[in-house]
Amino acid sequence: MSTPPSTSAQSQPAAAETYDVVVVGAGFAGLYMLHKLRGQGFSVRVYEQGGDVGGTWYWNRYPGARCDVESMQYSYSFSDELQQEWDWSERYAPQPEILKYANHVADRFNLRSDIAFDTRVDRAEFDESANSWAVTTSDDRSVTAKYVVLATGCLSNARMPDIRGLSGFKGKVYHTGNWPHEPIDFTGQRVGVIGTGSSAIQSVPIIAEEAEHLTVFQRTANFSIPARNAALTAEEREAFRQKYSEIRRFAREEARNGIYTEMPDRGALEDGENERRSKYEARWSRGGLTFMSVYNNLAIDKAANDTAADFVRAKIAETVKDPQTAKLLQPNNHPIGSKRICIDSDYFATFNRPNVTLVDIRSNPIEQILPNAVRAGGKDYEVDALVLATGFDAMTGSVAKIDIRGRNGQTLNQKWAEGPKTYLGLMSAGFPNLFIITGPGSPSVLSNMIVSIEQHVDWIADCVGWMRDHGLEVLEAEQGAEDKWVAHVNEVAHTTLYPQANSWYMGANIPGKPQIFMPYIGGVGVYRQICNDVAAKGYEGFVMTAAQQPQKMAAS
Ligand SMILES: Cc1cc2nc3c(=O)[nH]c(=O)nc-3n(C[C@H](O)[C@H](O)[C@H](O)COP(=O)(O)OP(=O)(O)OC[C@H]3O[C@@H](n4cnc5c(N)ncnc54)[C@H](O)[C@@H]3O)c2cc1C
Repeated sequence: MSTPPSTSAQSQPAAAETYDVVVVGAGFAGLYMLHKLRGQGFSVRVYEQGGDVGGTWYWNRYPGARCDVESMQYSYSFSDELQQEWDWSERYAPQPEILKYANHVADRFNLRSDIAFDTRVDRAEFDESANSWAVTTSDDRSVTAKYVVLATGCLSNARMPDIRGLSGFKGKVYHTGNWPHEPIDFTGQRVGVIGTGSSAIQSVPIIAEEAEHLTVFQRTANFSIPARNAALTAEEREAFRQKYSEIRRFAREEARNGIYTEMPDRGALEDGENERRSKYEARWSRGGLTFMSVYNNLAIDKAANDTAADFVRAKIAETVKDPQTAKLLQPNNHPIGSKRICIDSDYFATFNRPNVTLVDIRSNPIEQILPNAVRAGGKDYEVDALVLATGFDAMTGSVAKIDIRGRNGQTLNQKWAEGPKTYLGLMSAGFPNLFIITGPGSPSVLSNMIVSIEQHVDWIADCVGWMRDHGLEVLEAEQGAEDKWVAHVNEVAHTTLYPQANSWYMGANIPGKPQIFMPYIGGVGVYRQICNDVAAKGYEGFVMTAAQQPQKMAAS
């Protein structure tokens, strides 16, 4: 394959730098993609708009930020040495520790030399005559690459709410998804938090301890399960490590969501009320996301789902002393689990503190931000600082910010105007040699994302290796295969309760965004098998071109 650019060419005019692969983003996806491709002898350049590696964990430094999949599982599995040597300190590691881990990975595998930091990819255009991509970056440089891999992240485009007067607010405004690097001290301040999704649920208890007063502006109450976070003992880590190969295999091949846990063998309505209640109690005490896997039909059967939702609503009512506040905090407009379920440490109990107020902005919408207050329902809530926990333009937001032009000059934004369309979540017809990691149409945000990232990286690396071995130059999703996949993703989603929620899975948090269910809900094990079968059949559903001639190849 082509070699990395020489830096010593002096007398000739500067030729555009050429790489086999340009990777956009240096979060967990971009880092592993670089490592994997480099190991196969490809020349790779990674561009990252942030100042360092880590992606999500570089940007989301808000108080209380931590993972919600247990760290022993929310970690790479591609290197046994790495998973045996890294010591996670807590059941759910805090953001600084996850960022340290990302840095450790970058150093251990010597990745930094191929990453350009503080460099945003602004444009990528496919040159049909050269069968390569021209990639333009924010420093006005242009490079060419045979392949482009978008490792741009599903939750990397922080959503700024469009509220009248926000720019005139006199105090500091923070977004949880783009938090300053220096510690923020809210001591003595009146703080307003807008939004009550996962980031708010993690940060509210910590901010409440510091602030003089905290006002939480809630539009939608969310279901949250206690994390039961605790320090991990050396024995617990060791027990995990000893069975790591089985845990990782199960997470990849059998679990629906990429998390090792017991597989439920019965539905919620098959148990009597007492039995059901004691099972929910046991999961509530254990804490964590596996609450939802106590029964096998909570995602598909509304009556079954109601039993779990009622259980959690009752817990909220038990915890929150003021009945009116408790009622407001009880989610009542979506099935439990149909929006990403949250994991908390004392979120609901925080509303018993005298310095915390909950404001219902569904009934009393925010009208305006004043220089020192938030006006909602005709009432002014005075605040010195504002925390916007308003989430992300999920799954497509960061891709849409890049001007991507495929065949015939069509932009990806034009093609996706009515919602993202992909084949397997990996490629979009008309955009040859352009891969997306954990893109719409793949399990992605419904899973332990490191499991899904590793699966995509391995598949892409195998695919481009196979292309090289067969002397092929261009790979492109067939329109027909894509249409069938889009229909399948949609059909599977509609066999579940997920589309009943106005969630960011549907794009419902972004005004004007087309509402279609974006991730593939069939489960990571099933999905992996589909992708493997496609590859085994000579990349069925893709057209491959050698030199000028399109041809289908048989797998060897
Ligand atoms: C607070 C929070 C907690 C989370 N907890 C969990 C969890 O417990 N379990 C789980 O499975 N998932 C969790 N997630 C999801 C998380 O995003 C993924 O687990 C994972 O970190 C994604 O890695 P990534 O490399 O795909 O994307 P990211 O980590 O988002 O990295 C993408 C990178 O691409 C860069 N980028 C984007 N566009 C461009 C461009 N045009 N040019 C250059 N660079 C660009 C971004 O700056 C970013 O650094 C969480 C997300 C958040 C926000």
